[in-house]
Amino acid sequence: MTRVALVTGGTRGIGAAISIALQDAGYKVAATYAGNDDAAAAFTKDTGIATYKWSVADYDACVAGIAQVESDLGPVEILVNNAGITRDGMFHKMTREQWQEVMDTNLNGVFNMTHPVWNGMRERKFGRVINISSINGQKGQMGQANYSAAKAGDIGFTKALAQEGAFKGITVNTICPGYIGTEMVMAVPEKVRDSIIAQIPVGRLGEADEIARCVTFLASDDSGFITGSTLTANGGQYLT
Ligand code: NDP
Repeated sequence: MTRVALVTGGTRGIGAAISIALQDAGYKVAATYAGNDDAAAAFTKDTGIATYKWSVADYDACVAGIAQVESDLGPVEILVNNAGITRDGMFHKMTREQWQEVMDTNLNGVFNMTHPVWNGMRERKFGRVINISSINGQKGQMGQANYSAAKAGDIGFTKALAQEGAFKGITVNTICPGYIGTEMVMAVPEKVRDSIIAQIPVGRLGEADEIARCVTFLASDDSGFITGSTLTANGGQYLT
């Protein structure tokens, strides 16, 4: 039986690498995105992976979008909550909008996507929920009070839900990437990026494929005994 995997923010960056890796591993994949139609169209052309557009920040849109995916491909058995944004700023200058947008996407979005698939996973007695948090949710990052709080929230959510899902065959895990060379990180000024790389013991940024391989492992039947865990993939930058 071919399992269905849904990857939020699955058309660009780390999410695109995850979608492709899951497709290569034999899953039927649905990749969602928020607004960048050109990137999504190019992604589908290159990979053949179906894309769906809605915002994870909108609960009703998530319910409707997931219903569409399930009608097209079948029940979602693997959910990768990868969609994320940054709205950085020092706290004394941070606006309520910057705070709210990041909470709505990076934390509420994880609720909005997981809640509609949860009962189906419970009924089928199988599920994999994989949340993409961040090193900055573990250690906190100056200028990212909103992002660090949301990403730390994802880790707490994972640990609580893992306990609820365990007896129903559902595992819930978090991956905390360090700095990966996606558009999000390449948008940072070169000087700042060099100073980031200087703090990474392996001496380089991570690659999106390296995170994707963590996801395919956590999605597989081989990882059934791993739940509630935080998998750190950061080149040794922050050790928990
Ligand atoms: P990108 O900015 O490259 O891609 C983000 C993806 O998420 C896009 O597909 C985007 O859609 C989608 N997205 C954004 N907002 C929403 C929304 N409201 N609803 C649905 N989809 C949305 O991000 P990265 O690949 O760099 O990051 C992926 C995840 O990894 C994020 O959660 C990020 O916080 C986390 N992370 C990244 C690190 C890094 O170094 N890059 C380090 C640690 C964690 P669209 O194309 O339409 O804009």
